[in-house]
Amino acid sequence: MKITMIGTGYVGLVSGVCFSDFGHDVICVDKDPRKIEMLNAGEVPIYEPGLDTLMEKNVEAGRLSFTTDLASAVDGAEAVFIAVGTPTRRGDGHADLTYVMAAAEEVAQALTGYAVIVTKSTVPVGTNRKVKQVVAKANPAAEFDVASNPEFLREGAAIDDFMRPDRVVVGVQTDRAGDVMAEIYRPLFLRDFPIITTDLESAEMIKYAANAFLATKITFINEIAALCERVGADVKEVSKGIGLDNRIGNKFLHAGPGYGGSCFPKDTSALARIGQDHAVPQQIVETVIRVNDAVKLRMIEKLRDMCDGSFNGKTIAVLGVTFKPNTDDMRDAPSLTIVPALVGGGAKLRVVDPQGQREGEALLPGVHWLDDPYKAAQNADLVVVLTEWNEFRALDLKKLARKMSTPRMADLRNVYSPRDAKRAGFDAYESVGRKGAD
Ligand code: NAD
Repeated sequence: MKITMIGTGYVGLVSGVCFSDFGHDVICVDKDPRKIEMLNAGEVPIYEPGLDTLMEKNVEAGRLSFTTDLASAVDGAEAVFIAVGTPTRRGDGHADLTYVMAAAEEVAQALTGYAVIVTKSTVPVGTNRKVKQVVAKANPAAEFDVASNPEFLREGAAIDDFMRPDRVVVGVQTDRAGDVMAEIYRPLFLRDFPIITTDLESAEMIKYAANAFLATKITFINEIAALCERVGADVKEVSKGIGLDNRIGNKFLHAGPGYGGSCFPKDTSALARIGQDHAVPQQIVETVIRVNDAVKLRMIEKLRDMCDGSFNGKTIAVLGVTFKPNTDDMRDAPSLTIVPALVGGGAKLRVVDPQGQREGEALLPGVHWLDDPYKAAQNADLVVVLTEWNEFRALDLKKLARKMSTPRMADLRNVYSPRDAKRAGFDAYESVGRKGAD
């Protein structure tokens, strides 16, 4: 099967590479010539574990190629996937569909025979029908169907998620499109991964509902964590205690500095807007957005308290700024709220992140980048663990504490235990939703 993938970001590139590994012929298109140049040179423009090896294997096998020329890539394709960005539109919180519609129009003009135009980007309900109209208008002679195929992969574990999904969701209007989609995903179907085939609107809704539910779960435990701190309970115990209930499940119950990343903030915001537009306000989601913003501000206050009420003149080492480990993605990371507040308050910031510097340099002005947590802690007043990279999970706490001018740690990912921190010589140790060592 010949597949075209439009957009070589986190989703498009991973999907394209994995489809080629299924045995399909895949051409990936991006309008950013720098990305295509890198890809053609065998370099991966993003950090995603395992992607480089899988990409190399399939390029060598002749099943995977990259181009900026959309028309030649679409020519003869049986399925054209649109995997471009759908960021938050400035001003109103809606998903910005400019890139999706522009891609749809370009595809329309390049179609040479029947193809399924598949939206992989996360898009509001009704978008696939709009894509259909845009294509039909741009090329009235085009023979095509549209399909919705939202993506659920997680950055940092994207290949495994794509190859071993909990489910694949496909929304179609015709059997013909359903057959093409079934053929594309046949390798997964053969291995018993469930494929849900449904209508366009349900498929579109599934993606937003899934992300909003996960964001709600995180926010719920973050709010419970705040209460735990006040009443002397330990949120890790609470998470374990509720997560063992199968009806609740143990995932997404880790208290922390608030959710961020390329999906949850923009998708909750878009869902809230969709609800308002249809006069069915999504009150839970609206509250989740508000509470999540407050969680980040609560973290800043926690840090301020640890700095005796003022950041001014303090040296603070921040470990981790990407929105989660194993990615270089900085979009809407909690660090983008927390670090500027520290800098703005007069602190000297030292930042260590295994992959975040390339993106982070422009986003976090006024900080000093280092590559070693112990160097960052030298004569520092406070160490903040903000992203739980493996590199920061097994620090020699004694060594770290010894380097600091005042050994204090804010562990915003609950990586360490209050007891271990105390034993290692930290005068102060604060985490999220847990009391200190007795
Ligand atoms: P991204 O910003 O990393 O990549 C988008 C790419 O599309 C860019 O390289 C851009 O240059 C390219 N592009 C834009 N318009 C184009 C055009 N007309 N022709 C060719 N290329 C074009 O975005 P992403 O993180 O991969 O997300 C893509 C979509 O997938 C979004 O809707 C997002 O919500 C959804 N999604 C993302 C994730 C994730 O973890 N990142 C997970 C699930 C779903």
